[in-house]
Amino acid sequence: MSAGAPVGGGCRSAPVLKERGQREVFCGLTGIIWLHRKMQDAFFLVVGSRTCAHLLQSAAGVMIFAEPRFATAILEEGDLAGLNDAHDELDREVARLLERRPDIRQLFLVGSCPSEVIKLDLSRAAERLTETYAPKVRVLNYSGSGIETTFTQGEDACLASMVPVLPATEARELLVVGALPDVVEDQMLSLLRDIGVETVRCLPARSMEAGIAVGPNTVFALTQPFLGDTCAALERRGARHIAAPFPFGEAGTTAWLRAIADEFGLSDAAFAAATDAPRARAARAVAQAAEHLAGRTVFFFPDSQLEIPLARFLTRECGMTALEVGSPFIHNAIVGPDLDLMEAGPVISEGQDVDLQLERARALRPDLTVCGLGLANPLEAEGLTTKWAIELVFTPVHFYEQAGDLAGLFSRPLRRKGLISSLSGRLEAAE
Ligand code: SF4
Repeated sequence: MSAGAPVGGGCRSAPVLKERGQREVFCGLTGIIWLHRKMQDAFFLVVGSRTCAHLLQSAAGVMIFAEPRFATAILEEGDLAGLNDAHDELDREVARLLERRPDIRQLFLVGSCPSEVIKLDLSRAAERLTETYAPKVRVLNYSGSGIETTFTQGEDACLASMVPVLPATEARELLVVGALPDVVEDQMLSLLRDIGVETVRCLPARSMEAGIAVGPNTVFALTQPFLGDTCAALERRGARHIAAPFPFGEAGTTAWLRAIADEFGLSDAAFAAATDAPRARAARAVAQAAEHLAGRTVFFFPDSQLEIPLARFLTRECGMTALEVGSPFIHNAIVGPDLDLMEAGPVISEGQDVDLQLERARALRPDLTVCGLGLANPLEAEGLTTKWAIELVFTPVHFYEQAGDLAGLFSRPLRRKGLISSLSGRLEAAE
């Protein structure tokens, strides 16, 4: 495909169906699962209840091979009833933790529904603890509470909490924002180096030593569409956002790199030399998986906030037709370039009213429904084929080398369904 606007106009000016009903989402604590693996000198201390501890444990349980870099400081009944001084207890908990784990350089106090209900002021606690443990340890806080959030907002809140304490710089630098698996980040850094960008820093960095700073000459590119608060926090520090489609698929990756190359005035020859071969590989890999996607319909329930860029990828690069693209929030400044590239036609909805949306999905009977875990099983039982949105955040899907895998994530459930129906057809014929 070309990265140009679709014939008939894109979806940026399409009317948005605003939904404000019941939501089916995970809370922002989920982000700790990928953030603690990325930031190797950080620790996430959730100030929450046993429910929060269970959520983290069950989400992360199968993935922990070393001592985890997260824990829950459990608020007991006495704390919730205001009978104990939760701040004193938190100070003791942090002292014990830092004594036992001298490798911790950044400590995040993560708020939860219970800590918010009792109005435990974690920003005050973070300031107090920073005074005690600086400069060795930096203590920050953010909310991972499930009230009115989506699970990807945890990463946004975490990164936004880091921005105000970043050192200032006057240097003209590119900051790439969004947690990527190390191997994908390395591929991206190598592409950026090859097209000619001299200094690139990543937020979050793997360690506090990475020297990230921000100032009026910083330009930043997002790798995830759910980073609205971080984007605003960086703009408050004077940095400028490079608006671009997200680097999903061959065309998305090329358009993302192209926006950065244009910002830095880099040569077309270097761009072509760095991107021609991986572009061709990505296009081949996508085309292979797209054989099972072309001509099929897809319906997105709002969940991860990746929905709009993914719908752009599936419609432009894989030949699918989007029926509805629901997203928890739509920030035009962030997903506008992806909306521009999407053929007009699908319902674009923001927020959730789960019953109404289920009715629309049942009426349309899409070939593939992308939704949260809670909706997938009931929809499968009704004969719809589903893809869990959360897998798209846990799986490496960005940039050229992952483009085929990304298309494969969507084609697999359809292929599986095809195989099951042909097998049951053969069994019936044999009976
Ligand atoms: S933060 Fe709220 S929604 Fe998340 S696990 Fe804790 S109580 Fe549940």
